[in-house]
Amino acid sequence: MRKPYIAGNWKMNMTPSEGAVFAKELAKAVEGTNTKVMVAPPYVTIPAVVEALKGSDIIVAAQNMSDNLKGAFTGEVSATMLKDLGITNVILGHSERRALYGENDAFINRKVLLALSEGMEVDLCIGETLEEREAGKLEEVLSRQVEEGLKGVSAEQMQHITLAYEPVWAIGTGKTATPEDADAAHAFVRSLVEKLYNKGVAEELIIQYGGSVKASNVKALMSKEHIDGALVGGASLSVEQFLPIVNFDK
Ligand code: PEP
Repeated sequence: MRKPYIAGNWKMNMTPSEGAVFAKELAKAVEGTNTKVMVAPPYVTIPAVVEALKGSDIIVAAQNMSDNLKGAFTGEVSATMLKDLGITNVILGHSERRALYGENDAFINRKVLLALSEGMEVDLCIGETLEEREAGKLEEVLSRQVEEGLKGVSAEQMQHITLAYEPVWAIGTGKTATPEDADAAHAFVRSLVEKLYNKGVAEELIIQYGGSVKASNVKALMSKEHIDGALVGGASLSVEQFLPIVNFDK
């Protein structure tokens, strides 16, 4: 049985003081939920959010991390530093990292392996651009991102991996994949994971959908067999919009 997992990626929004106020309000609002809830604040906002969420089950994650543990890497933040703050979850391979900062599958894979070896939980993002989808390359792109992103990850380590299928054309655009299209992509990814690992790993894998998820579409998406959660950007920035997503089953 896969437990629903709803995550909010705050991107470059929320100062430490805003994040703390928001986190307190969110914690109160989601108290008692059966859904796993995660928020990913910007690095500098993490300590304030961790403090504000003491006693809450909401997980705090980083949106990225360095592929090195320490040294001369100006502007980077390491797993060691995150762990010192109590952070053990990290989003890797978000499409904005891929498109705006040139992160490729091999680079993302290095981070995935490092995060796992540091005992962290990884939310690995994959997804095609509109151009790739229209050129009939959906499965080719997802296969490459999954195979290369997870290279060297053992079946045992797969319990620390969540995949987020986020069609790039649906992120921040207001366009959502239909529940059927999203489910078909998730089913494809699950079958790929079964081929790479085994049926047990594939059946237990949590695959989130991301791309303009909101209160009005979350129920239909979450009703699909292979959609186990959501990675939410814009709608995770207000409790009013995020709460009905967390409470999709109510
Ligand atoms: C995201 O950034 O992962 C995302 C899905 O954003 P949005 O919900 O705003 O489309």
